[in-house]
Amino acid sequence: MTIKPLIILPDPVLRQVSKPIERVDADLQRVVDDMLDTMYDAPGIGLAAIQVGVARRMLVIDLSKEGEEKQPLVFINPEIVSSSDERSVYEEGCLSIPDYYAEVERPAKVTAKYLDREGKEQSVEADGLLATCLQHEIDHLNGVLFIDHISRLKREMVIKKFTKSAKSKAL
Ligand SMILES: [Zn+2]
Repeated sequence: MTIKPLIILPDPVLRQVSKPIERVDADLQRVVDDMLDTMYDAPGIGLAAIQVGVARRMLVIDLSKEGEEKQPLVFINPEIVSSSDERSVYEEGCLSIPDYYAEVERPAKVTAKYLDREGKEQSVEADGLLATCLQHEIDHLNGVLFIDHISRLKREMVIKKFTKSAKSKAL
């Protein structure tokens, strides 16, 4: 069990496009387990590999509530194959942009295919929070952050704030 340091805005690593995973093996499963430990420790409900500096197309999600049994979901090479015209709005946050939240509108339902932790092909029809969370995390694999979906003015303000705090930490 290893908790990895999180990559924080404005680190350019977050803008990298992650590469597909060719083989699901024990080494990869160890990275997945570290990602889960890191997400639970934060705590958060979703984490993409790039947020711990691994530019590979995988992410973990757990939407169970506090006190409930954990329900870890592992998505390897996830791909959205269809999304609804219907949209929904959620207040989103991100472990790479701590303590910042904003409403984001996205398709309300998506169908995604992916490989699970064992490398088996799966597909999911997601709605509600899972649909939003999946889209947020898949965005990470393409170097896209949730602040890219808000107004330019708001986005520039957040980036400025995090750039300043990164500089003061570097001193
Ligand atoms: Zn995020």
